[in-house]
Amino acid sequence: MIAHNKHFIDGAWRPALDTTHTVVHDSATEELIATVSHGTASEIDAAVKAARAAFPSWSATSVVQRAVFIQAIADGLEARVESMVTGIAAEVGMPLKLTRRIQVEAPISAWRATAAIAADALADTPLRHSVITKEAVGVVGAITPWNYPLHQITGKLAAALAAGCCVVLKPSELAPTAAQALGEAIAEAGLPNGVVNIVLGDKNAGEALVRHPGVDLVSFTGSTAVGKHIASIAGQALKRVSLELGGKSAGIALADADQAAVVKNAIASCFLNSGQTCSAITRLLVPQEQYDDYRAQLQTAVEALQVGDPRDGKTRIGPLVSAEHKQRVQSFIAEAVNQGYDVIKAHADTALPNRGFYVAPIVFGRVPLEARLAQEEVFGPVLTVQTYADEDEAIAIANGTAYGLAGAVWSGSPEHGERIARRMRAGQVDVNGAPFNAVAPFGGFGASGFGREGGTFGIEEFIELRAIQLPVRTATK
Ligand code: NAD
Repeated sequence: MIAHNKHFIDGAWRPALDTTHTVVHDSATEELIATVSHGTASEIDAAVKAARAAFPSWSATSVVQRAVFIQAIADGLEARVESMVTGIAAEVGMPLKLTRRIQVEAPISAWRATAAIAADALADTPLRHSVITKEAVGVVGAITPWNYPLHQITGKLAAALAAGCCVVLKPSELAPTAAQALGEAIAEAGLPNGVVNIVLGDKNAGEALVRHPGVDLVSFTGSTAVGKHIASIAGQALKRVSLELGGKSAGIALADADQAAVVKNAIASCFLNSGQTCSAITRLLVPQEQYDDYRAQLQTAVEALQVGDPRDGKTRIGPLVSAEHKQRVQSFIAEAVNQGYDVIKAHADTALPNRGFYVAPIVFGRVPLEARLAQEEVFGPVLTVQTYADEDEAIAIANGTAYGLAGAVWSGSPEHGERIARRMRAGQVDVNGAPFNAVAPFGGFGASGFGREGGTFGIEEFIELRAIQLPVRTATK
């Protein structure tokens, strides 16, 4: 059992003032694996003050030098890959092999990619008789969730540091391993004191950070409900805010799509990390005349999914993060079963391990657009299938929720797929299973939030633009 009872403030690990904490369980065994102290308003205050004190010098440090520090942080994270893989897999429930690649190695590469593009992203831009300069916003309050803990921290911190901002991070209380490793890597990298501060804690620490007058920008990833609340607090103080929130993303299988590829991609996307992925394709839209074909193929595919311990090499789907979250997902499923939707395939609950926060993957067919299951984020292994009569209806269904985070299209013609992708109101749309691009902008339309992370676009979230008008030379006689 690890007691995470120190906050990283002004370059040092300080014992937590408060003894209250959140208890973290191994999602597969339900064993107690960690406690996470609840940071107090006074610890948030100390962290913000340290960040403010560090800001003038850090923002004046050359971008080349800042990039060297970012690379050094990546080195420190790389030295901790093994402990992060085992820790994050136990916390979140993602199978070890996927945890290594997606939860740990990919974010470390993103730290390095951010360092590599920083100088170009922050270069001055000439514009007629002006020069546009890019200035760091100031002190950033970063608040992150538990589902991809290192990835979400990276999207904010690497970009903010590249831009010249100082940061106070309040990571998720349910997945402390990534933030702990990051604090250690930062200390080793010799980052000047106060440039990054980490205050552990629950929503009270998060809210104290959002409300602190010394914070210039709040960068939040989490649920839409909390995002709205944070935006309203930040709005009162005219703080900048960027929000990466939930989703109910649709994938449109066009009539000429390769059905086997659609089923493979849709299952992989929806059930990745047990459905605990904000950009998961959770609604599959198929032509109504092909419903029975898809039904049969989905049944076979779901049946083949190996649900089990994340540490077992054969496992594709592990447990959910916590008992509380499992209960929430189960209540969604029970309600959908009661509604009488077509249950395409459910693993029998009796086939699941008898300990751990497991939920059997399930697919519901012919779910109407206005149904709760088609409108609200479940964040568990639940796929919804909807049918459409023509492409206009498919677009209307895809765009028919409050969200707009991600989307997918499958077509026999990639050009046709791209035309449909351009009509989808979502921040990222993949055509024919195209892979994730770490330097493309990631973020949402509508209730999925505003602001973008990733690559140059992610760095731009943390800058203010300054236009300097230079005297215009008049022609000499
Ligand atoms: P959550 O909103 O409950 O918590 C997220 C973070 O906010 C945590 O650190 C939590 O302690 C903190 N928090 C909670 N209440 C707060 C308050 N009042 N003030 C300040 N901070 C507060 O979300 P979660 O359960 O940790 O994560 C799951 C949600 O995150 C899902 O809705 C998912 O879609 C979303 N998510 C979005 C993205 C994206 O990039 N769009 C990525 C991952 C997760």
